[in-house]
Amino acid sequence: MRAINSKEAIALEDKYGAHNYHPLPVVLSKGKGVLVWDVEGKEYLDFLSGYSALNQGHCHPEIVKAMQEQAEILTLTSRAFHNDILGKYEEYITNYFGYDKVLPMNTGVEAGETALKLCRKWGYKIKGIPENEAIIVVAKDNFMGRTLAAVSASTDPSSYNGFGPFLPGFVKVDFNDLNVLETVLKNPNVAGLMLEPIQGEAGVNVPDDGYLKGVSDLCKKYNVLFIADEVQTGIARTGKMLACDYEDVKPDILVLGKALSGGTMPVSAVLTNDEIMLTIKPGEHGSTFGGNPLACKVAIAALEVVKEENLCDNAFKMGNIFRAGINSIESPLIKLVRGKGLLNAIIVNDSEDSKTAWNLCMELANRGLLAKPTHGNIIRFAPPLVINEEQMKNALSIIKGVFEDFKG
Ligand code: PLP
Repeated sequence: MRAINSKEAIALEDKYGAHNYHPLPVVLSKGKGVLVWDVEGKEYLDFLSGYSALNQGHCHPEIVKAMQEQAEILTLTSRAFHNDILGKYEEYITNYFGYDKVLPMNTGVEAGETALKLCRKWGYKIKGIPENEAIIVVAKDNFMGRTLAAVSASTDPSSYNGFGPFLPGFVKVDFNDLNVLETVLKNPNVAGLMLEPIQGEAGVNVPDDGYLKGVSDLCKKYNVLFIADEVQTGIARTGKMLACDYEDVKPDILVLGKALSGGTMPVSAVLTNDEIMLTIKPGEHGSTFGGNPLACKVAIAALEVVKEENLCDNAFKMGNIFRAGINSIESPLIKLVRGKGLLNAIIVNDSEDSKTAWNLCMELANRGLLAKPTHGNIIRFAPPLVINEEQMKNALSIIKGVFEDFKG
């Protein structure tokens, strides 16, 4: 195949692909660790990490090795048959996160859907909610992905507009408000509450200290399952293995995705205890690719890397350096920097529908750093967790230069 330049690659996507994304005009062809290169050979620091799927860095050698080795032996059996890797992976991941059982899926949104289905089943079979009456509480401004269940739970018009009718059974409450939550949880038909411990797509919305503990306590009090969607926040991203670990809270159902494969292929998982998991019987849920031996091998390697390379500690340390560095920049454009570990956002001092964040990201890209706005005035900064201090200082000096020189 002939190599193409950026302009040609973008033109092809524009002509033959759906227009369901609005990417920065950068065409990448190579990645290693924290760095990526475009087709013209320009080098960038990747401060998006595939929306936090690349926590272990691009093309991590141990993950790639596991992938290559397994790809030559057996890639897919479907769940019509057993395979010799699935059980080992299930043992590994359940021990790793401290749950009885795992249900393997592929994308984050599928894992979220799986959690919702498990929660409803538990609601009917164990809690005794009358058939078809189960309610699942979600937080406003959540992001679970793009399926109809996910957009039904969304409060973002760009997610749900034009896609109705929507799935019933969701009640949406303000994030970070325990009083409102308690009022809603009193309804005996509530089976579960599904939350991101930090709302990533909403712009790295960090709740007050004590919120997650409060949530967990309320769920216990009203016999409601606490489902943590840690697809973006999990696997060391926020400086702990799970963002829930900051408050020593153990969700009843844990939803993981993204970095479970180190960004090599879609691998997601739902973890919970026997009482909840065993409410789903053979034939009631599944996926052709979920639990395939290739994904299982890759996921074990990806999780090993997180522990072997102390990525929680590094994310914690580098996150502190990042926020201190941003706070030391004198720019009227920086209203606030917020986040935990290496999931951070700068709130740009401008209106939500402005182009400022986009234009800043264009200038960051020109100077060799890739980041993406989550809203008109919010830029998320989430590099691979393998970033070192020198690379972080380099990134901070690019960001400082861009903010100080920006003319609008
Ligand atoms: N849940 C959260 C919290 C997410 O941030 C995302 C994706 O950004 C998803 C679910 C959906 O994951 P996927 O895009 O793999 O379906």
